[in-house]
Amino acid sequence: MISRRLQTIASFCPEGARVADIGSDHALLASYLIENKMASHVVAGELNEGPFQAAKKQIQSIGAEDRVSVRKGDGLAVLAPGEVDVICIAGMGGQLIVSILADGAEKLEGVNRLILQPNVGEELVRRWMQENGWQLTHETILEEDGIIYEILVADRGVPDTPYLGKERTEEELLRLGPFLWEEKSPVLTSKWMRERDKWRKVLEQLSRSEKEEAQERARQVEKELEWMDEVI
Ligand code: SAM
Repeated sequence: MISRRLQTIASFCPEGARVADIGSDHALLASYLIENKMASHVVAGELNEGPFQAAKKQIQSIGAEDRVSVRKGDGLAVLAPGEVDVICIAGMGGQLIVSILADGAEKLEGVNRLILQPNVGEELVRRWMQENGWQLTHETILEEDGIIYEILVADRGVPDTPYLGKERTEEELLRLGPFLWEEKSPVLTSKWMRERDKWRKVLEQLSRSEKEEAQERARQVEKELEWMDEVI
């Protein structure tokens, strides 16, 4: 059984779509999409030799070589223009996800949905969407094995609505997630409580230093903590 995180990602793939999973590792998402007839074809892209071989083995083991093309390469370079409708990129930092999308901008033509699951740096991903003509349409947050994940879905060709949320500015909603903030689930609260604990520890360490630089940083962290107290 694949993780709930990957199942949730799969649930956002429109039925019968042609999907690319970039950074597919063992091709578990690709296998799940094909075995459950959720996608008509999947391109599983992988940069590194070990996971690339593992992905090929996995697809052979389920006898899906005709429906899953496993390719070795960097980001969207494995795709031909117009080849897929949906691109999934999961389990990487937001910065890497954004650079994969920016480097492969010409391959995004014809793609109408992005399903992205950054491990960190969700704000960067939302900002990239906003600046590049992608409309955030769904967000989910979930906890699995003690780790909290956010899944962000963006579509193209849907009306552009600004991020509007109760009590929060657009900048804040880029951090919090406009749909996640609207829903304000216990998992979202838990995410920001963990973040606050992390920054409290940083503040503690900074407070021990007498260097001007550290004190300046401590003042910034205090502000950050005040903001977190407010949103939790
Ligand atoms: N997507 C899977 C998931 O969410 O479970 C695997 C995540 S794994 C942590 C990240 C995978 O992305 C690794 O297998 C890594 O080799 C691959 N990767 C990293 N940078 C990449 C890039 N620029 N292009 C394609 N694959 C990449």
